[in-house]
Amino acid sequence: MASHIVGYPRMGPKRELKFALESFWDGKSSAEDLQKVAADLRSSIWNQMSSAGIKYIPSNTFSYYDQVLDTTAMLGAVPPRYGWNGGEIGFDVYFSMARGNASVPAMEMTKWFDTNYHYIVPELGPDVKFTYASHKAVTEYKEAKALGVETVPVLVGPVSYLLLSKPAKGVEKTFSLLSLLDKILPVYKEVISELKAAGASWIQFDEPTLVLDLDSTKLQAFTAAYSELESTLSGLNVLVETYFADLPAEQYKTLTSLKGVTAYGFDLVRGEKTVDLIKGGFPQGKYLFAGVVDGRNIWANDLAASLSTLQTLEGVVGKDKLVVSTSCSLLHTAVDLVNEPKLDVEIKSWLAFAAQKLYEVNGLAKALAGQKDEDFFSANAQALASRKSSPRVTNKDVQAAAAALKGSDHRRATNVSARLEAQQKKLNLPILPTTTIGSFPQTIELRRVRREYKAKKISEEEYVKSIKEEINKVVKLQEELDIDVLVHGEPERNDMVEYFGEQLSGFAFSANGWVQSYGSRCVKPPIIYGDVSRPNPMTVFWSSTAQSMTSRPMKGMLTGPVTILNWSFVRNDQPRFETCYQIALAIKDEVEDLEKAGINVIQIDEAALREGLPLRKSEQAFYLDWAVHSFRITNVGVQDTTQIHTHMCYSNFNDIINSIIDMDADVITIENSRSDEKLLSVFREGVKYGAGIGPGVYDIHSPRIPSTEEIADRINKMLAVLETNILWVNPDCGLKTRKYTEVKPALQNMVAAAKLLRSQLASAK
Ligand code: GLN
Ligand code: ZN
Repeated sequence: MASHIVGYPRMGPKRELKFALESFWDGKSSAEDLQKVAADLRSSIWNQMSSAGIKYIPSNTFSYYDQVLDTTAMLGAVPPRYGWNGGEIGFDVYFSMARGNASVPAMEMTKWFDTNYHYIVPELGPDVKFTYASHKAVTEYKEAKALGVETVPVLVGPVSYLLLSKPAKGVEKTFSLLSLLDKILPVYKEVISELKAAGASWIQFDEPTLVLDLDSTKLQAFTAAYSELESTLSGLNVLVETYFADLPAEQYKTLTSLKGVTAYGFDLVRGEKTVDLIKGGFPQGKYLFAGVVDGRNIWANDLAASLSTLQTLEGVVGKDKLVVSTSCSLLHTAVDLVNEPKLDVEIKSWLAFAAQKLYEVNGLAKALAGQKDEDFFSANAQALASRKSSPRVTNKDVQAAAAALKGSDHRRATNVSARLEAQQKKLNLPILPTTTIGSFPQTIELRRVRREYKAKKISEEEYVKSIKEEINKVVKLQEELDIDVLVHGEPERNDMVEYFGEQLSGFAFSANGWVQSYGSRCVKPPIIYGDVSRPNPMTVFWSSTAQSMTSRPMKGMLTGPVTILNWSFVRNDQPRFETCYQIALAIKDEVEDLEKAGINVIQIDEAALREGLPLRKSEQAFYLDWAVHSFRITNVGVQDTTQIHTHMCYSNFNDIINSIIDMDADVITIENSRSDEKLLSVFREGVKYGAGIGPGVYDIHSPRIPSTEEIADRINKMLAVLETNILWVNPDCGLKTRKYTEVKPALQNMVAAAKLLRSQLASAK
């Protein structure tokens, strides 16, 4: 009976690691305290897996921050600015790399494939001296062994490690990172030898980059690396694990020909094509680790369907060579349903968090071995049937409306320049109009009011009164600052997705369904389980209240369908685009209600549009097409005079600029100041942008207050590549994480800079 788990969440069922880390960072607890919490979490996870009957239990999937950073530590690849002088890397150096310290900034962090997890990007160059500097993998293997649990130590594979790194500052951009393979493999060999000496019989290398588009040089690096490791690996069973997509045929061929490797792991949830490849030929005598239990979602597995896939695969690879596994590490799903006493019982029966997935994997392995637990399987079949037929999942009207969208395009009738003209007649804005992105500082007092209202400790009347007062304060402040297009400040929202999810049908919320985003930070994605509709207006009351407080235009503020989709756990019983179109229709209703209520400027945030981009080129066009279409659906019904804004928090969209233009918003505000030249370079290279555009003029992620000159300088840079009449002046993102003592002077300087340039432009005429 062979079952395997690729990896497991580290934070703990109640985010124990998060609180231990933050307390340690704040100097409120000792290193020993933190180590104790971590050791307890590890031992409870190992015990949980072992009592669930899992045969191949991973170790070294725990991390104090990130597994790629752990690998950097293992290889001693510490950038010189952290002043490390050799020896075993401790918390000091490790957390400085992760988070920076008083004198040095952190290493860069970036998204882990298409997940919402972020890893610390290794900075490498020809001069890095690699040495074995963190024995964590071996220590954790021994730790589990001492607890009586035999584990499979997991390492980030050498080729993926290099492919996920970047050239350090000062190193040529064209430097071949793969040329470092020869230098890192000796360290890998030391680690492998130590693991062998400690008694390990299996080892797992995670090589998820194998699912990406790879040229032949990169593919050859895999062949070369494992050939080089072959003799060190002899005597061990070696699993190379891939995940997040199916494998292209070439990658499959390379993987299954690797020397020294005895087992291959595949994501079969996203890998229908991989199943075909396996059927078409699998090396004799090797193990297949079949990832049939979804590590990216929270739905109960369709056990009958998985069992039938497994039986087919068993026919190909042989009885004792098939191992049931998860599609990827369970790091990307929620931890344990046990802590969800408030979740609706019916919905709960449809779900499986990480702890429940252990039983699914083992249940499937038992069934394959002829020991099927009939009760377990029939309870699962019943839950699936209830999900299929439940009236709370299906809404005929919504399905009809979404189906009616098919086959037609949705675009506003008039082109953007004519619309901008019509809008300007109504809004009468100065050139270089100023605005902000939506939220204003969220004070402790504000959070208290929302919390007490939710807990029914204060009446609706009191709540509305407090929020109105807050809006009024924000409106008056913006008028004093002389900002042109105002916002209400979003004081009624704690989260830009949750706020809408709570008011839409088809969404459920967990109490503890946290997923690690980076370091100690976790997110709690809403669960979309049914057809999405909007029973009532969601923002009209607050936006019109805010508009009634000022004669200046007040922006209505919505989260867009693609962002709501990408930041939720999405249903797996219909394609993502179906769900997205349904959300788009709900937001469309809201947009039109705002317009009716006299709101002339409406911002629809699409902060997460880019992060849903599929990993492989061949799938990107399809995604962009329905994502951009969904956005357009939300505002296709408004008049020319209603100005639609959108906002994005990142600027590395040079590759998708045509899709951004195709969104056909009247105005787009974008992050720009952390990556200044990157965004503007698109326009420098000749891309035509005719709609309004507000590249952020200062970084709201830092407490630093930018001076008027500095902002004016940035605006000038933008004017060099963009027409004066389309440029807007605004910060990079919402202001909710900042303090008023930072926001007031920063906005003051921003408005002053806009006015300075207006007068310069006027006198230059
Ligand atoms: N309107 C949101 C805000 O200002 C946008 C946040 C975001 O882009 N992440 O907070
Ligand atoms: Zn933003």
